[in-house]
Amino acid sequence: MPPDSLRTRRADGATIGPDAARVRACQVWKGASVLRVLVVEDEPTISAAVRTALTASGHAVDVADDGLEAIAWEASYPYDLLILDVVLPGLDGFGVCARIRERGSSVPILMLTALDQLQDRVTGLDRGADDYLVKPFAMAELQARVRALARRQTQGRPPTLRVHDLELDPATGAVRRGGEPIELSVREFAMLELFARHPGHVFHRDRLIDKLWNADFSPESNIVEVYVRNLRRKVDGGRRDGLIQTVRGSGYRLRADGPPPP
Ligand code: CA
Repeated sequence: MPPDSLRTRRADGATIGPDAARVRACQVWKGASVLRVLVVEDEPTISAAVRTALTASGHAVDVADDGLEAIAWEASYPYDLLILDVVLPGLDGFGVCARIRERGSSVPILMLTALDQLQDRVTGLDRGADDYLVKPFAMAELQARVRALARRQTQGRPPTLRVHDLELDPATGAVRRGGEPIELSVREFAMLELFARHPGHVFHRDRLIDKLWNADFSPESNIVEVYVRNLRRKVDGGRRDGLIQTVRGSGYRLRADGPPPP
């Protein structure tokens, strides 16, 4: 969990809240990875545009406008990607990149540089960035680079996840139970994928919020319960061999043991 001061500050300054989550919930999964993204940029027009574009693609996005704040956020949440500007108050993007790598984090970093200068790009890559984009950039190119970094993360994973008679294909977004297709929203799929990659593992609700939503969602939110209820309805329906289990006082899991005999 992040320091209380960060969470409070973020919640107060939030422009994306439950309403945006409801919008995202209506988006149907189209086969792209859902990422928890930290955008580090002190120019509000740019950070807002990036956040809007990535949120529209279903990603959970936080914004930090200061280099030191970014380091604290990165240590507090399980980000899948950092989009990092170079010129920042507090600590510049090169310094942020170096500090994060020194700490042993391998989170993919896409650096934004205002200057199309060779030395900036070399410095960024040398400090541990995975890719860079020169400002001004087209949002379509940013989205393409995000997709490429996401693909790199999922290489080597088994193409289809199978738990009992449930099948998920993260590449296409297809979900079947007993051969019957199931249509899930972006975030429902992300939650089910997390469960299916760790059958039997109990996920505490705070961990699910940290992984699947941005920092605007407080631990008091009932968003996890709402999504688990929807998933259970779609995946388990009226079946007596329900796969999605509540572990009282601990959280939720996908059952690892075999379903009861018919
Ligand atoms: Ca800047």
